[in-house]
Amino acid sequence: MADYANDLAGFRKDLQQFLAEPRMDRWRDLYVEDVPGEMAETAAMIGELYDAGFGRYGFPIAAGGLGGDVRHCAVLFDELGAAGMPASGQYGLLTTLGAPVVKFAPELAAKYLPEFLSGKAWWGQGFSETEAGSDLAALRCRATPAEGGYRLSGHKTWTSHGATATRLVCLVRTGTQESRHRGLTMVMVDVDAPGVEVRPIELASGRAELAECFFDDVLVTPDRLVGEEGQGWAVAMFLLQYERAVYAWQRASTLMQRLRSLATEVAPTEQAERLIGSVYLDLIALRARSLETVRLLAAGESVGPEASSDKLLLGAAEQSVMAAARTLLGPAFVLGDAASRWREEWWFSRTTTIYGGSAEVQRGILADRVLNLPKG
Ligand SMILES: Cc1cc2nc3c(=O)[nH]c(=O)nc-3n(C[C@H](O)[C@H](O)[C@H](O)COP(=O)(O)OP(=O)(O)OC[C@H]3O[C@@H](n4cnc5c(N)ncnc54)[C@H](O)[C@@H]3O)c2cc1C
Repeated sequence: MADYANDLAGFRKDLQQFLAEPRMDRWRDLYVEDVPGEMAETAAMIGELYDAGFGRYGFPIAAGGLGGDVRHCAVLFDELGAAGMPASGQYGLLTTLGAPVVKFAPELAAKYLPEFLSGKAWWGQGFSETEAGSDLAALRCRATPAEGGYRLSGHKTWTSHGATATRLVCLVRTGTQESRHRGLTMVMVDVDAPGVEVRPIELASGRAELAECFFDDVLVTPDRLVGEEGQGWAVAMFLLQYERAVYAWQRASTLMQRLRSLATEVAPTEQAERLIGSVYLDLIALRARSLETVRLLAAGESVGPEASSDKLLLGAAEQSVMAAARTLLGPAFVLGDAASRWREEWWFSRTTTIYGGSAEVQRGILADRVLNLPKG
């Protein structure tokens, strides 16, 4: 295979050819109603991309990758979308969790990232708790120093794909409750470790995509720290740039694919053309903003609080695609069997202004830290 680490155009061209091969048809327009079934199916696709090399770019060779940077991931998501294939839940989590583990725990990345890149396993992100969502620094799940490392007790909730993940990257408290964000540490926990229990949570659509995770005196050895003790907030902030921004690019590719699909499903009336055109503009606004973010991250720069704009634009674009589907499909959207995927996606679109920090919180960040507006 050619080395594409410094050849983004060649990477795109050869990837397009690879995705057009008949053996990849299995994943075109993939829709599996149950979440574990969908994850198993996309894991097989990720395995193909890994074996062919295309799924390994954007990550260092020492961690099972083939070099390159986040732009390779962006091209992969783009081309998957253009080929009508899923960007997959696993790639969403890889986008969010891969870069911080590579940066802050290279040894853990060397040991475990290859399983993620090859689709054999994936990890969940354990940040939120019942009383600590927007106010993440209030979290209570605690790792107490003990023989052999730390003992972890507490719980996490709303963990995306937690029920099928094999490992969880968790933000936990190692300092006092009053130390807020200064007393936090990032750790990696195996789901099959003694004392871990994971229970799936169904979304309004009926899909069990989230999970609740309980930790009862779970041993965390020092080699499972992602970053140093007390550095968890810095690791989380680095991670959030990827969760809010690169994930937005990935999702935009999928949404563009869904909008194309909608355009073929509805009659070409003036109303349809106007609505699809206006939604297309929302998507282009998202991509224009997100392109800049991907470039900055690829250049090793930090995006910081500006990543909140990407997240807000994603929420607006995702909800406008799904609102257009609901309007244009009419009664078939509500009743038709053929529209069950649209209905599920419409439900999911409601969460885009919640996960990764709610829209209100993102607006607050932009007001305080980007625009420096006076506090009301
Ligand atoms: C589909 C989905 C997937 C998710 N995946 C994960 C995951 O993988 N890992 C993980 O750790 N978490 C995950 N989450 C949790 C998500 O990060 C939280 O739901 C989110 O941070 C909001 O926290 P909360 O639900 O506790 O709401 P709360 O913080 O209780 O907020 C309730 C309401 O108050 C508003 N509010 C709160 N604070 C402010 C403020 N300062 N200014 C203005 N308004 C405010 C919020 O906007 C919201 O409307 C997921 C959530 C969803 C819906």
